[in-house]
Amino acid sequence: MGFQVLETSKLLNYARARSLWIVTFCTGCGGVELPPTATARFDFERFGIISTPSIRQADLLLITGYVTPKTLKRIIIVYEMMRNPKYIIAHGSCPINAGIYWDSYNTVKKLDLYIPVDVWIAGCMPRPEAILRALVKLMRMVKEGKALGWKRYLENFEFYRKNQDRLFGKDWRKREIEKLRFYIHD
Ligand code: SF4
Repeated sequence: MGFQVLETSKLLNYARARSLWIVTFCTGCGGVELPPTATARFDFERFGIISTPSIRQADLLLITGYVTPKTLKRIIIVYEMMRNPKYIIAHGSCPINAGIYWDSYNTVKKLDLYIPVDVWIAGCMPRPEAILRALVKLMRMVKEGKALGWKRYLENFEFYRKNQDRLFGKDWRKREIEKLRFYIHD
């Protein structure tokens, strides 16, 4: 009888893929498709996926619809407070190219200029089947060590920072953290 010895990284990736914890944070209208994806009919918990209010223990951030600059600031701060490795799935046309809000003065048009997205879901609004498919795709990428948005963010931080500063103005992070200080317990 032989034992198959898994490399530590493979074992870790397998465990990560089977225990994705989602930050409870929804933007836009796509959030309403999450309850049916989580509950009895589609039941994402069977893959080890759960929602958590704890940013520091979550590893998956879902952007569930259109994003305004004000929301994007919060998204970036939440993303930066999550531990590595961490992943992002963006739901629907709005995060991809602002969708039906393409000519709005207040909608972010290209989300991946500001934060790294691992999996995109096309559609307006994507049904639970599409969300489930994206989750399974992300699980496969994590298992194979190919969900590397978090690494891209670290390696190209200057690129992301410059784009963020251009949109929000210099020192925006400092100003936002000052405002949020009341909620942050280190
Ligand atoms: S893609 Fe459609 S459902 Fe999603 S946020 Fe935009 S308008 Fe709403």
